[in-house]
Amino acid sequence: MSHNIPEISEEPVIAEVVSHSNFQVSVGATGTKFLKEIRDNKTIMGIKCPSCKKVYVPPRSHCPICFDRMSEWVALSGKGSLTSYTIVRYPEPYMPKKTPYAYGIIQLDGADTGMAHFLGEVDLDKIEIGVRLEPVFKEEREGSILDIDYFKPSS
Ligand SMILES: [Zn+2]
Repeated sequence: MSHNIPEISEEPVIAEVVSHSNFQVSVGATGTKFLKEIRDNKTIMGIKCPSCKKVYVPPRSHCPICFDRMSEWVALSGKGSLTSYTIVRYPEPYMPKKTPYAYGIIQLDGADTGMAHFLGEVDLDKIEIGVRLEPVFKEEREGSILDIDYFKPSS
């Protein structure tokens, strides 16, 4: 049996598709607790692995190293140190901040992993690795990671 594969002799038509999708996903039991604590109590929670004792923020259901299920929640102060950052100057329609803005990895005290979030109340030309930060929560919180408006230098 032979297959007739049509030859493409013409230039293909290229269509530019601009896509914007709105959809809802469940954040799961672990994500729900994490976001509810931020929304209701302005508390950032980590979750601790029973085997290697690492504390993950944002939390996840299983330790990626031990594969153990994690269920021990740890309330963090929310304060931490900046370990990395970038300045975003190119606007993207889905990003909630106006450019230019800074986006960083914050190592919260008591956590073993870094958490990505916006930096605010900072001079974009004078951000230093290691600067101490604390979260600024929105007044109206809805159960989103953006209930943390940004992290600012802590006094
Ligand atoms: Zn572990």
